[in-house]
Amino acid sequence: MDVHRPDSLSEALELRAAHPQAMAMAGGTDLMVDLNFDRARPPAVLDLTRIPELREWSLQDGHVRVGAGVTYTRIMAELGDRLPGLAVASRTVGSLQIRNRGTVGGNLATASPAGDALPPLYTADAVVELASTRGTRRVQVAELITGPKRTALAADELIAGFTLPAATGPQEFAKVGTRNAMVISVCAVSLALWPVERRVAICIGSAGPTPIAATAAAAFIAGELDWDGLRRPSDAALARFGELAGAAAQPIDDVRGTADYRRHAVGVLARRTLGWAWGRMPAWS
Ligand SMILES: Cc1cc2nc3c(=O)[nH]c(=O)nc-3n(C[C@H](O)[C@H](O)[C@H](O)COP(=O)(O)OP(=O)(O)OC[C@H]3O[C@@H](n4cnc5c(N)ncnc54)[C@H](O)[C@@H]3O)c2cc1C
Repeated sequence: MDVHRPDSLSEALELRAAHPQAMAMAGGTDLMVDLNFDRARPPAVLDLTRIPELREWSLQDGHVRVGAGVTYTRIMAELGDRLPGLAVASRTVGSLQIRNRGTVGGNLATASPAGDALPPLYTADAVVELASTRGTRRVQVAELITGPKRTALAADELIAGFTLPAATGPQEFAKVGTRNAMVISVCAVSLALWPVERRVAICIGSAGPTPIAATAAAAFIAGELDWDGLRRPSDAALARFGELAGAAAQPIDDVRGTADYRRHAVGVLARRTLGWAWGRMPAWS
C-alpha cells in the first residue's frame, strides 16, 4: 500500500485528484479499525497529519473557523469557552488516546449516525468547507451528511474545515451509553440556546439514519421560555418538549438499544439538557 504524506493542503489536493481511490487519514481512529478488520483495503493512504492548515483554528466576526484536523483534546482545551457544545461532546468521545488523535473532520467524513461531534454542529448550523483542486465549496453540515456513513463529499475533495458561530448562550450535550467511556452512543442530544434571537436548537444523535434537528420541539420551547425574567419553564412545557423531541427521533432496534427505549431516552435527555442550559442563562445575561 502506498502512503502519501503531503506537507501542505495544496499538495494534498493534488494527490487527492491524482489518486481518487486513496483514503485520507487524519487521526486514523476510524480508518485503522477498518483496515484491521479488512472492511477497507485502499490502494493508498493519504496521510493528512503533516498539513498545518488543517490543524489551525481562527476567529472572525463572531464565528470560529476550525480546521478539519483539530483534535478533540484541543477543542476541549482551546475552544471550550467559544464552542461549549462541541467541547462537551468532545469530552465524551472514546478515551484520552482517541481524543488525542481523533478529529472532527474524521467524524464528519465517517458520517456515522452515532458520531458525537455531529449534533453540536447541527445546533450551530455549521458550514463545512469541501476543498479540491477545482476550488472550495461550502455546504451546511446537514447537506454534507446524506445518510448513514454517506456524505456529499466528491472523490477529489477533502474536508478543509468548518465554521460556526461562537456561542452567545449555554450549550449542552448528553449521551446514553452502557458505561461512562469508550462507548458508542445509544442516543445523544445536543442543545444550544441562542438568546439574542430567542432561539433554541436541538439535534438528536444515534437515533436515526443521520443526526436529526428536532425543529418542532425547538420552536415549541422557544415560545414557552421566559427570556426576560428567566423563570423556570412549567413542568407541562418541559414534558411537551420531551415528547416532541422523542417524536422527532427515527430510531431502530439494534444491539445497543430498542427503538422504544431510544425514543424515551431522547425525551429525557432533551428535558435534562434544557434544564442544565436554562440554569446557566443568568451567567450569559
Ligand atoms: C476505541 C474507539 C472509541 C471511539 N469512540 C467514539 C465516540 O465515543 N464517539 C464518536 O463519535 N466516535 C468514536 N470513535 C470513532 C472515531 O474516533 C471518530 O469518528 C473520530 O472523529 C475519527 O476521526 P479521525 O481523525 O481519527 O478519522 P480517520 O480515522 O483518520 O478518518 C475517518 C474517515 O474520514 C476520512 N477523513 C478523515 N479526515 C478527512 C478529511 N479532512 N477530508 C476528507 N476525509 C477525511 C477518512 O478517509 C476516513 O474515511 C471511536 C473510535 C475508537 C477506535
